Amino acid sequence: MIGIFGGTFDPVHYGHLRAIIEVREIFKLDEVRLLPNKTPPHRSEPSAMPKMRLDMLRLATENLPGLVIDTRELDRDGPSYMVDTLRSLCRDFPRRPLLLFIGVDAFNGLTSWHRWTELFDHAHIVVMTRPGYSIQLQSEFFRARQVFDAAELTRHKAGKLLFRPITELDISASAIRKMIAEKRDPRFLLPDAVLDYIHSHHLYQKV
Ligand code: ATP
Repeated sequence: MIGIFGGTFDPVHYGHLRAIIEVREIFKLDEVRLLPNKTPPHRSEPSAMPKMRLDMLRLATENLPGLVIDTRELDRDGPSYMVDTLRSLCRDFPRRPLLLFIGVDAFNGLTSWHRWTELFDHAHIVVMTRPGYSIQLQSEFFRARQVFDAAELTRHKAGKLLFRPITELDISASAIRKMIAEKRDPRFLLPDAVLDYIHSHHLYQKV
């Protein structure tokens, strides 16, 4: 199985990195592919340019095994729709089930994603806990797909939904951006190498 972890990573922080390490271990994944998005459809324009978000992701992950930075959303024109990304990954890895990891905050907005029901045609979705957010399992569509045991994911190529607690770290990129703009010190919320990059490129100086 291949793990898929998409995000804006504006900037990448320990909330992302801890989650990525934990899900790789829990699901015994050879590989987790990190997909920085270009134009996120569900939020305002990122503050940092795509190349800078990518540089920061590279700096944060260079010593972590089993992670692959996948730039297909940055290389593609137009909005970064996850359904298109999953289709393209299925073409590249036709025999390997895909596990799409999203936080509870993202899951609660999932029904507004472009062609969201089709996500389940291409991948399983694993929802990770995140402080400050509780799961809203609104629809029968989700209940019908929910499984409670990770082993179930290995028995199907796609289409299942699993909720998985992970270590809850109350860290967000928006809070880090705000701290930097307010000239507060965000150390220990993100890697020092990323913070040095932010300072040397004068990023996030305005909210
Ligand atoms: P912002 O604060 O700018 O909205 P963010 O911190 O939520 O950014 P994203 O890059 O938008 O970061 O998140 C990418 C993915 O990582 C999403 O699925 C999100 O739910 C998840 N994620 C981000 N931070 C955490 C965290 N602290 N714990 C668990 N999941 C997280």
